[in-house]
Amino acid sequence: MARIETPKRIRGTQDIFGEEQRRFAQVLDTFERVRRLYCFQRVDIPVFEATGVFARSMGETSDVVSKEMYSFEDRGGDSLTLRPEFTAGIARAYITEGWQQYAPLKLVTAGPVFRYERPQKGRFRQFHQVDAEIIGAPEPAADVELLVLADQLLHELGIHEGVTLQLNTLGDAATRDAWRTALVAHFEAHREALSEDSQLRLDKNPMRILDSKDPRDRPIADSAPDIDAYLTEEAASFFKAVTDGLDAAGVAWTRNSRLVRGLDYYRHTAFEFVTDRLGAQGTVLAGGRYDGLIGSLGGPETPGVGWAAGVERLAMLIAEPARETVDIAVVAEADEFALAAIALVAKLRRAGFSAEAVVTGSPRKRYDKALKSDPAHTIALSRRDGQVHVGERSLHAPPHPDQFSVIVDSVTATLS
Ligand code: ATP
Ligand code: MG
Repeated sequence: MARIETPKRIRGTQDIFGEEQRRFAQVLDTFERVRRLYCFQRVDIPVFEATGVFARSMGETSDVVSKEMYSFEDRGGDSLTLRPEFTAGIARAYITEGWQQYAPLKLVTAGPVFRYERPQKGRFRQFHQVDAEIIGAPEPAADVELLVLADQLLHELGIHEGVTLQLNTLGDAATRDAWRTALVAHFEAHREALSEDSQLRLDKNPMRILDSKDPRDRPIADSAPDIDAYLTEEAASFFKAVTDGLDAAGVAWTRNSRLVRGLDYYRHTAFEFVTDRLGAQGTVLAGGRYDGLIGSLGGPETPGVGWAAGVERLAMLIAEPARETVDIAVVAEADEFALAAIALVAKLRRAGFSAEAVVTGSPRKRYDKALKSDPAHTIALSRRDGQVHVGERSLHAPPHPDQFSVIVDSVTATLS
């Protein structure tokens, strides 16, 4: 008979189980707790959108749109794309759902995102992000609030040591245009020495050369003019308000004048939280202000600022979370007690205890089997010298002892 080929996991995807799953859950639980402290509401949006949503909002020349999108035609002939990030979909939802009426809107979301990249440590094709956005708030206080939220998330995950907030400003429209002209002049003068990728960027998206990782580009990028000489008074005071706010909130930051976001509608604040503990995949959380995005998608001109963080990268950095605990194991040491054991765990679980019943397998081995889950408390139902015996053992402090005893007594009273 022909051997059936076993199915394979798709390259760059993950089956998240065991310790990895506990790490993952801890990141999401912490994010959920912290977003409540900052009064951000949760939103959920589709996993796929019309391809144009991402192409227009992330820019045709961006790495994501030009090389990394999972795009496909559906059965109706429409071009759809699995979301490679959240911001574009949230901006689309803001427009289609008429969320202007709620502005300013503080939102978070989380879930899988998809990018066709070369998989490696901390880099997947289906990965997960947590995301936070403030839409409809033009003032620097919104940037500050998002950054303080990010900082608190990293603290509560216990990973702030060795993670630095790198901060930059891209100024306002006038600043950006003037700086961009100066950058193009600088790069044109060194065109031949740039990497092939950066020669293409020079024509399409010159600012991105600044954060190129290619060693051929680094000296040219490092000697490029800083934005500071081109900052308008307004742009400079916006940046100062952001850094003053961070200082007031006690959030440490460093200036990285090479940090850019490529697209024309990015304004003012750009930032990344970077660690040296993940090799080449050192950016754990990144974002910035995107005041022109919603307008460029055809919506009302609406300022916005936000960030996203990779759940896998955060999960790799945190300390190993404790295993989930079992409060009570109920062991039927003889088959005649199987139903009593089922009744007992059902009552315990309804009362809020985590409980497992062991009612199968060789009766003499059931007790040892129950101990494998390291329960805080065990109840073994057996018959000794013809009498029903309820053996209790506390390995750790028994949870809610009074409530617990009432339940155990109510069930064991029915046994004779
Ligand atoms: P990188 O430079 O690592 O490719 P990026 O600039 O493409 O990151 P963003 O688009 O800013 O990343 O996404 C925000 C965060 O999502 C990143 O800081 C990172 O933590 C995470 N991330 C991005 N791409 C991947 C991936 N392929 N696998 C896992 N996490 C990722
Ligand atoms: Mg990338």
